[in-house]
Amino acid sequence: MKRILIAEDDRRISAFLAQKLQANGYGTTVVEDGYQVLNLISHHQFDLLILDLGLPGKDGEEVLTELRGQGQQIPIIILSARDQIKDKVAGLEGGADDYMTKPFSFEELLARIRLRLRSHQIPQEPKSATVVQFGNITLDLHQRAVTVDDREIKLSNQEFILLDTLMRHPNQVMSREDLLNYVWGYSYEPNSNIVNVYIGYLRKKVGNDLIETVRGVGYRLRNK
Ligand code: CA
Repeated sequence: MKRILIAEDDRRISAFLAQKLQANGYGTTVVEDGYQVLNLISHHQFDLLILDLGLPGKDGEEVLTELRGQGQQIPIIILSARDQIKDKVAGLEGGADDYMTKPFSFEELLARIRLRLRSHQIPQEPKSATVVQFGNITLDLHQRAVTVDDREIKLSNQEFILLDTLMRHPNQVMSREDLLNYVWGYSYEPNSNIVNVYIGYLRKKVGNDLIETVRGVGYRLRNK
């Protein structure tokens, strides 16, 4: 079972997160101040950290800086009410893997958690949570299998995550930056054309007309 450390001093939020994450098959531990986060991570194994920025003791930014300064690799998703671009940039440049603002959608947070964990190993989840469907395409996260019209398609790791990301945002245009962030993380330079290249690969495998290019904006899945 994957273990998630929740650093959150608002008990309504931490209780909600713990309950929902447990229902999705994760183990959870809640801490309420920054010192506890550092202490727990140095002594116990966790697979992911959800980090509030406004924490007593040591705030989330300091915690982030210390963890990354120690070379700690744990995936970190910041979950904060601070919604200014400068806060997000500071968090991501400080070494967070992702940044979500409150109020948040649990489904979206869950999708982002899965993406972060998937680069290591597929989490054990209830069967129903591991199958994503859009039109004639079915994606089984557990088996890592993709079928189009009941025909199985072989995808590379990145192609799989890219398709999963698009399928989790149906009818929504995803910008190249969004996809770059979701699939490759923030380590890629923003001008990289890797997204276009992989969209091309995917089109070859799942059909040309599935992924629509929205000129100047990005990509979205097209309902047939
Ligand atoms: Ca707080």
